[in-house]
Amino acid sequence: MSSVPAATILGFPRMGSNRQLKKAVEAFWASKISESELLDRTKQLRKEHWELQASLGLKQVPVGDFSFYDHMLDHAVLFGIVPERYNVTKPGLECYFAMARGLQAPDRGIDVPSLEMVKWFDTNYHYMVPQIAENQTFALDSTKIIDELREALALGLDARPVVVGPVTFLKLSKTASGAGSTLSYLPQILPLYVELIKQLVAEGAKWVQLDEPVLALDIDAETQEAYRTAYAELAKISGAQYLVATYFAGLEDNLELAASLPIQALHLDLVRNPEQLEGALKAVPESVVLSLGVINGRNIWKADLSKGLELINTAAKARPADKLIINSSCSLLHTPHSLDAETELDAELKNWLAFSTEKIAEIVVLSRALHEGVDAVKAELDANAAAIQSRRTSDRVSNPAVKSRVVSLKESDFSRNNEFSVRQAAQHDKYKLPLFPTTTIGSFPQTSDIRRNRARFRKSEITAEQYQEYLETATRECIEWQDNIGIDVLVHGEFERNDMVEFFGENLSGFAFTRNGWVQSYGSRCVKPPVIYGDVSRTRPITVETAKFAQTCSPKPVKGMLTGPVTILQWSFVRDDQPRSETCKQIALAIRDEVVDLETAGTTIIQVDEPAIREGLPLRKSGWDDYLEWSVDSFRLATAGVVDSTQIHTHMCYSEFNTIFPAIQRMDADVITIENAKSDLKLLHAFEHHGYKAEIGPGLYDIHSPRVPSVQEMKERVRKMLNYLSPQLLWINPDCGLKTRGWEEVRSSLTNLVEVARELRKEY
Ligand code: GLN
Ligand code: ZN
Repeated sequence: MSSVPAATILGFPRMGSNRQLKKAVEAFWASKISESELLDRTKQLRKEHWELQASLGLKQVPVGDFSFYDHMLDHAVLFGIVPERYNVTKPGLECYFAMARGLQAPDRGIDVPSLEMVKWFDTNYHYMVPQIAENQTFALDSTKIIDELREALALGLDARPVVVGPVTFLKLSKTASGAGSTLSYLPQILPLYVELIKQLVAEGAKWVQLDEPVLALDIDAETQEAYRTAYAELAKISGAQYLVATYFAGLEDNLELAASLPIQALHLDLVRNPEQLEGALKAVPESVVLSLGVINGRNIWKADLSKGLELINTAAKARPADKLIINSSCSLLHTPHSLDAETELDAELKNWLAFSTEKIAEIVVLSRALHEGVDAVKAELDANAAAIQSRRTSDRVSNPAVKSRVVSLKESDFSRNNEFSVRQAAQHDKYKLPLFPTTTIGSFPQTSDIRRNRARFRKSEITAEQYQEYLETATRECIEWQDNIGIDVLVHGEFERNDMVEFFGENLSGFAFTRNGWVQSYGSRCVKPPVIYGDVSRTRPITVETAKFAQTCSPKPVKGMLTGPVTILQWSFVRDDQPRSETCKQIALAIRDEVVDLETAGTTIIQVDEPAIREGLPLRKSGWDDYLEWSVDSFRLATAGVVDSTQIHTHMCYSEFNTIFPAIQRMDADVITIENAKSDLKLLHAFEHHGYKAEIGPGLYDIHSPRVPSVQEMKERVRKMLNYLSPQLLWINPDCGLKTRGWEEVRSSLTNLVEVARELRKEY
């Protein structure tokens, strides 16, 4: 067996130190640069990234982890899985980006939607779902990965192609009809894997990385069998050495299966599941190299290298060092590029962090400790220990008042004073809303004018007073407009918010913000999650002044609008020095303070958005109960501090509730608004079936499209909904917030929405 790489990573972030990839593809989409310019710039970017990795000391670099948009989409194209509707596009990049983003070219009579996009496991990265036709023909249709391998080899580097493994690829794909198992295509796609790997080996790849995160999930017998079949076939190729990568969870009950595969190296995520090492050392044959994923690819903290070394030493007692690889836990796709750009973080906090570039350096230190002994890297280990110690003992991290508040929580803090039916009576009495009350989800169009003014304020081109005045004018106009067209429960429009998590984080202690900590979310879109480094508390009331002002603009109730604790947690980089549940409770208490202050200030309809509760579900079912317990508890803690007549709303922008129904019920919100326009009515059937008690607003139209829904079609929808829900429980509202829409569509759509309620009230 040739050259086991001592240290490597499973993948590197694509965007570049300054989001060069985003800028290049967006310029290409806008026809500002040519295709060849795009190709040149991205080739340059790959070169920079490989050379950076090599200069940091990696002996082997991953290739094929680059993508113009998404690596699953690359694989769909690689195997020729291109739905027929894209035949109208030009082959090559036009077709590729049409699959990624849809293509509207009226002059050529083209209007094709994109492929479906979903979250990549439990990350905030989204991939395009390959769609396999019933009579799909497969063919190796792209040389992208071969070309990239050649590029890296030409630079004199040892390069390892990264390919999504056959079983994971099929499991993440869907059939065009949505029915049947995609694994039935394994016999057809396997020969293409064989062909591809033969080509890679012929080009000079010594190792091929096959990503199989599905192997660390709960899988059925069919999937297990598919693993045996697939890898038996791949093992026949001479000269190929496979590193099979599992990540985001532990192998657990799939360990025997993984250990039985005829492969040369197996990667374990020892950050998510360090306990699996011991079993793996026993079960995995000694001829198989173990790749130890000890550096966290999902978070931004400096690793505690002494802990990493402990794991490595455990492995080194059972295996020779040349049968071990020191690695990132998963691809570094999920962490920002480098700390270099963080010129505004204070030195203390910055010293606690490691982005992708710094993580590679950590991997190299650990690998050197293994091969050369700890003395060879004494300076690095000492500096690391000092940083870890500084974070552990800093009084910026620990706030005794917050800790003791959490410890002294009583059961009653998690419950409203009375059950829903009692609260509902008090609320109906107080607000006297008509049947089918109308409302919206919160945000109104974030126009370029609003963004421009916010930017000018941030750059101090206008004063705080001027900015405030601007916001108040926008808010007043928005509220008066809603009032005029006859909406019953108004919103202030969220014009002051850039992002629903960042806005709150900026007013909470224990949060920090990076300048350049971008992580790819989908395609060219990146997010910059806040960093939660310390105990969280509210430094000052956050929305109370805005709510007070809003309430002066109309005699009708204006909803208070908050982001829930689970969503704030889920969309941030969180601390790794205490359980997520603990951090979540702290955030919940901060939001609770805000809820109570809003109530005191007279805002007594309060919406606490939790769009991220469902995506936080652990990948393995065994973790669900625990997660749902603390996440729902956190929501309850945030919202239970109010009197019966205060009405708590929540909003979630998805509609797959079936598996978590009891948890949604246990949130005990008075009103829940959910996405429904795109889904069928099965969902409502589930609400009926589970005997859901509280009031509910299933979205009447899809806000993701500029299309204006007619009164007639929305009324039809409500009629269907009323087959499942009683009229006394039904609210009338759109699917989600309106911030991405234009005012013109919003005016027409909401006017129609109000008309729906008016007409229905005459009938009931
Ligand atoms: N209140 C938020 C808005 O309307 C909710 C956003 C969301 O559901 N993601 O924008
Ligand atoms: Zn939403």
